[in-house]
Amino acid sequence: MHLARLRNGRRAHWKAVGSQSVQAIIDRLYLGWEAFFAGDIKRPPTFRKRRKYRSFTLKQAGYKIVGHGRIKILGRNYRFNQSRPVSGVIKIVTVRRDALRDIHITFSCDQVPQPEQAPKTGLSAGADFGLKDFLTLSTAERIAAPQPLKARLRRLRKAQRVLSRKQKGSKARESERLDVARVHRKVANVRNDWQWKQARMLLLTFDMLVFETLNLRGMQQLWGRKVGDLGFADFLSKAEWMAKKLVRDLVKIDPWEPSTQTCRVCGRRREMPLNMRTFECHGCGHVEHRDVNASHNILEAGRRLRSGASSKTAHGRQDALVTAESHAL
Ligand SMILES: [Zn+2]
Repeated sequence: MHLARLRNGRRAHWKAVGSQSVQAIIDRLYLGWEAFFAGDIKRPPTFRKRRKYRSFTLKQAGYKIVGHGRIKILGRNYRFNQSRPVSGVIKIVTVRRDALRDIHITFSCDQVPQPEQAPKTGLSAGADFGLKDFLTLSTAERIAAPQPLKARLRRLRKAQRVLSRKQKGSKARESERLDVARVHRKVANVRNDWQWKQARMLLLTFDMLVFETLNLRGMQQLWGRKVGDLGFADFLSKAEWMAKKLVRDLVKIDPWEPSTQTCRVCGRRREMPLNMRTFECHGCGHVEHRDVNASHNILEAGRRLRSGASSKTAHGRQDALVTAESHAL
């Protein structure tokens, strides 16, 4: 249907936000269909209720920055807590309401100044994701991750139980709903904070860092909630962002490399059941921690990949920096 006609029609909500924001919804829908046809997502976009829209976007028109932490949207002035100065040219402004009804404003920018190039250290490492240790490096360092959800599971379950007993539409229910949402937000904040710090630390330390991309769906089926709580995929995308920012080489290798089963000294393979924590080679007698051996193989696979094919990952285009910050709905 024609947009202008919708906006001038009977339903007032089409006019609640600016014309560009309505256009942006169409853009999202278009991207959704594109991703569906490209096979990136399994389900086609579906209809959504109006109240499900938690965010809207603004392009050049429709907003004006009137100072630090001050913005004018649709003729009205708003103040917000600005966490840091905006660098680059603002392309898209996203206004989003979270489950606690707090409003967040995100600026997606173009022409972001050249990243801060970290001084070369001459060090490379392979990194193996695991459930016992979040990351094991080929330097034999093992990094444990916090499990914020696990730590709050009892509280969360209790809050959810209380919530389920409250009458729908009641005030008590709404306040319980906020309680549950508060736990979820805290969990996400703790996890994100830790991941950002860890990613930065690692990419400051190593010029080249090799990760094995994971078959997450398979892992989730095998291990359940814990995989989600650790958030491997989220960590990897933060690490990629940080690699671009610090101008480091982050290499991703295929999950079907037999990194765990192969002796990193002589290359001989053996079966490695999940509970076997030590790799003992039947060929050369090499003995090492299971994940340390694997992370060496991951590092080697990354080196082979880099010396073989020309790289296309880490030093990607600048605008990739932007997409990392503009989350979807
Ligand atoms: Zn061996």
